[in-house]
Amino acid sequence: MWFSGWRVLKEGLTGNKGWRPHWRDPDPKPVYDAVIIGGGGHGLATAYYLAAEHDMTNIAVLEKGYFGGGNVGRNTTIVRANYNLPGNSEFYSHSLKLWEGLEQELNFNTMFSQRGVLNLFHSDGQRDYAARRGNSMISQGDDAVLLDREGVRSMVPYLDFDNGRFPIYGGLFHPRGGTARHDAVAWGFARGADQRGVDLIQNCEVTGIDIQNGKVTGVQTSRGAIRAKKVAIVVAGRSSQVAAMAGMRLPIESHVLQAFVTEGLKPCIDQVVTFGMGHFYISQSDKGGLVFGGDLDFYASYAARGNLPMQEHVMEAAMTLMPMIGKARVLRSWGGIMDMSPDGSPVIDRTGVEGLYLNCGWCYGGFKAVPGSGFALAHLMATGRPHGSAARLRLDRFETGYGLMDEEGTGAQHNLH
Ligand SMILES: Cc1cc2nc3c(=O)[nH]c(=O)nc-3n(C[C@H](O)[C@H](O)[C@H](O)COP(=O)(O)OP(=O)(O)OC[C@H]3O[C@@H](n4cnc5c(N)ncnc54)[C@H](O)[C@@H]3O)c2cc1C
Repeated sequence: MWFSGWRVLKEGLTGNKGWRPHWRDPDPKPVYDAVIIGGGGHGLATAYYLAAEHDMTNIAVLEKGYFGGGNVGRNTTIVRANYNLPGNSEFYSHSLKLWEGLEQELNFNTMFSQRGVLNLFHSDGQRDYAARRGNSMISQGDDAVLLDREGVRSMVPYLDFDNGRFPIYGGLFHPRGGTARHDAVAWGFARGADQRGVDLIQNCEVTGIDIQNGKVTGVQTSRGAIRAKKVAIVVAGRSSQVAAMAGMRLPIESHVLQAFVTEGLKPCIDQVVTFGMGHFYISQSDKGGLVFGGDLDFYASYAARGNLPMQEHVMEAAMTLMPMIGKARVLRSWGGIMDMSPDGSPVIDRTGVEGLYLNCGWCYGGFKAVPGSGFALAHLMATGRPHGSAARLRLDRFETGYGLMDEEGTGAQHNLH
């Protein structure tokens, strides 16, 4: 089924009877060439690129719930390529380029909107860092504009520029950054993978990983055993639990991250605005809701909902930055389980078990990574070699200490990322 304006018109005039489900609902087969555990954004993108780029179609994605029920459908949808350190910067740069062609590639409207991301700074030292970061973004081939206070004011005049503690000195603007509709990204990749013959299996929890003589041979699931020579663990907040099924202890802690949305308002926030010092960021959805969030709840947890202290902290930060937000009414809050790595950077790598791959450590920033991560993991699984954009996202950096990518200098304290 191909989407187009013509198709929408035709269906509208003929009672909308021609639409079909986006994907089949197959039973699991006993054997696949490869199995991907986890039907979030990363798992579905991996399946899509395995099929689309490497002609591997005898594969399955096993999802314990439903597609889009995890973090891919819970995030605040920010897409950007403004990382500073080698290892991360080329990866996110590649991912943003994939985003820019994604709707055409998938023939699916993900509502990708390059409305720009503005990072505020509040001191001379932060300005220096923003300038360095902007320069490294530009030398990476991405875009960055260093704005002074008046430049920021012309974009977002409603901020409190003279706050006693955090006066606004300026901002680093990343015009190609923006937002996308989160669950549509999962659906688009799912549809694309299904069209290429991938079996997408929901309500199928992986309960064990079978290993013989150091090689993976398949998985145990709530819908029976499945054999496969290649298995990828792509389960975000559940990474430690699923890796433990293969006898691995990961350097990952799971924490809750909350987000909030207000009632729909007329358009008032055109960009994504981030207030790092207050741990607060905000954008406006196409429906008009102000979508915003803050920091992690500061304890390890597998609960997909957070607690009041962090909600209070986020509201305080919001009022500090933009007092006008006090007039808006919050409609909902929710949480997702973040796979926090010690250096705040991800892992796309093989494991010590032959045929078993790992994709994890996305912390609170893995939505923007969905296409890049799927592309790189598919490349690794199909060719046996890491993709150039993800060559430094190795698991052994936590063992050797070599090649850590600690963007925020928060070291081994997961809850400070
Ligand atoms: C509130 C919030 C705001 C965020 N904001 C942003 C943002 O603005 N920008 C950004 O880039 N990132 C953001 N993120 C982070 C981003 O959402 C995640 O890093 C990313 O979605 C994780 O990858 P995923 O989509 O594959 O995860 P998920 O969607 O969580 O997918 C993992 C899947 O694995 C499944 N699974 C787990 N265990 C098993 C099992 N045993 N068997 C089978 N399946 C299993 C789960 O059910 C789940 O569906 C945010 C996250 C949250 C919670």
